[in-house]
Amino acid sequence: MKFGTKVIHAGIEPDSATGAIMTPIYQTSTYVQEAPGQHKGYEYSRTQNPTRSILQANVAALEDGRYGIAFSSGLAALDALIKLLRPGDEIIANDDLYGGTVRLFQKVYAQFGIRSRFVDLTNPQALEEYITDDTRWVYVETPSNPLLRLVDIEAICAIAHRRGIRVCVDNTFCSPYLQKPLTLGADLVLHSATKYLGGHSDVVLGLLVTREPQLAEQLYFIQNATGAVPGPQDCFLVLRGIKTLHVRMERACANAMAIAQFLHSHPAVAKVYYPGLASHPQHELAKRQMRDFGAMLSFELDSDCIDDAVRLCQKTRYFQLAESLGGVESLISIPAAMTHASIPPEQRRQAGLRDTLIRLSVGIEDVSDLIEDLQQALDSL
Ligand SMILES: *Cc1c(COP(=O)(O)O)cnc(C)c1O
Repeated sequence: MKFGTKVIHAGIEPDSATGAIMTPIYQTSTYVQEAPGQHKGYEYSRTQNPTRSILQANVAALEDGRYGIAFSSGLAALDALIKLLRPGDEIIANDDLYGGTVRLFQKVYAQFGIRSRFVDLTNPQALEEYITDDTRWVYVETPSNPLLRLVDIEAICAIAHRRGIRVCVDNTFCSPYLQKPLTLGADLVLHSATKYLGGHSDVVLGLLVTREPQLAEQLYFIQNATGAVPGPQDCFLVLRGIKTLHVRMERACANAMAIAQFLHSHPAVAKVYYPGLASHPQHELAKRQMRDFGAMLSFELDSDCIDDAVRLCQKTRYFQLAESLGGVESLISIPAAMTHASIPPEQRRQAGLRDTLIRLSVGIEDVSDLIEDLQQALDSL
């Protein structure tokens, strides 16, 4: 089955009771048993729910994995991964990550003795120096947020696996349409389905996908034992969003490329971060690792003044000022003041994230309107 067919059919059958073509929302907490312990595979909705099971199977297929495990948010999915660790264990991650990911490691789990280190992994060989006897996982976000740096998944996995260390890739920015980490060697994939999978800015949900039965069993145990599960209505919304994933991604990527080129040639713009531009230092890796270049991009103005960046964000009409990404509508944000404000300024600076950096999540509107919108906002400065 090809990707564009999987999004609509993988793991999804018409409802066996009624023939309903859309997956029913099983809004129920419990299931009637014929005799004590005798049931149809469903006992209680924290443990299993049919709407959730179908979403898990569908996303597992999209990632070329075998097991999907759904959570109430992307961070709840990360929380489940961290619960595989013990005090003294260490996780190594790249140093340009979603702000909430850094916060969970440093502000919640450090006090339980889970150690985390954030390092530059754009050169995969660097990983060798950082690995210690306590390293259990390498955690990679590629392209990274918000600087769109890439990590070579295949090379990182080869180095980590030689030392018996597992690799998890946060595939939120790409979605399985653009990048399949499991086929490149990763052990686990994480999604904030809140973004491209859901695709319509109307739901918060997270997912993990793996091919390994033992790892899946541990994660299903944590899913049930700690209980951060999504409700059936949210699972339904993500299933519905996924049906158009390939079409949305194709359009959003084409729009982003046109906008990156426009910004690149605009005199008021000093620098554009987009893997699709030949000027991106990892353009070749992007071509190899991703099907297309994604719909996220960042840029810096010629002016170093934070007020100019703020003014620009308030002047755009179609690009709305908001956190999050991956919806059909275009968004604009200043990461240092918004999504990444919880990271200490010194740490932000070390990671190369300037306070004036502007991030775009490019939607699927008509691209000429989007370019015109940015043009008038830039002209107004
Ligand atoms: C949004 C996001 C998360 C967190 O997901 P939530 O669903 O908001 O909990 C993790 N990683 C990346 C890259 C994200 O963009």
